[in-house]
Amino acid sequence: MHFSNIIIKNNQKSAANNNLVALFYLQKSAIIKIRVPLEIQLMGNVETIIKFKISNGMKQTDCIFCKIVNKEIPCHKIYEDEKFLAFLDIQPVSHGHVLIIPKEHIIWMQDANDEIISEIFILTKKIMLTMKGGMKCDYVQVGVNGEEIPHFHIHLIPRYFDDNFPQFPRKKYQEGEPDELIKRITSAF
Ligand SMILES: [Zn+2]
Repeated sequence: MHFSNIIIKNNQKSAANNNLVALFYLQKSAIIKIRVPLEIQLMGNVETIIKFKISNGMKQTDCIFCKIVNKEIPCHKIYEDEKFLAFLDIQPVSHGHVLIIPKEHIIWMQDANDEIISEIFILTKKIMLTMKGGMKCDYVQVGVNGEEIPHFHIHLIPRYFDDNFPQFPRKKYQEGEPDELIKRITSAF
């Protein structure tokens, strides 16, 4: 389970809803403003450092992948170590479709630290190679989606040159659009 250390620097009561509005200094860099749930307020002195989980509103206890990690739900396990778990997708796109997840409840890939990112992709390569050898597939397609289960996961899908998978629909750019998009994409570097 991953928590960020958060220091409540300043706070004030919001009369409208009785929630505490606080400024949080996340990892000494980013500053965000969120409403503090009543349960947290009841923990005591809000001027102290508390541990608070940032999520998109989903509790870890509701997460199917966390339940698999905690063995509350069974899975067809491929690989496990102290940080990662790989298992068969229960609704495979093709037979042998594997999911690799960090055991830590991380919602989006970009929320994972660099160590997790590098280790999970090294593990991805290892499992791809064993799948390609064992399944005799032509290649293994890698996908990082994440919107269906809000717990960072990598799909490894055995593919065959003649499997005729549907393709994503393709679009075309109008003149000038690529330059505009490059500006938007790179503006936050
Ligand atoms: Zn989870």
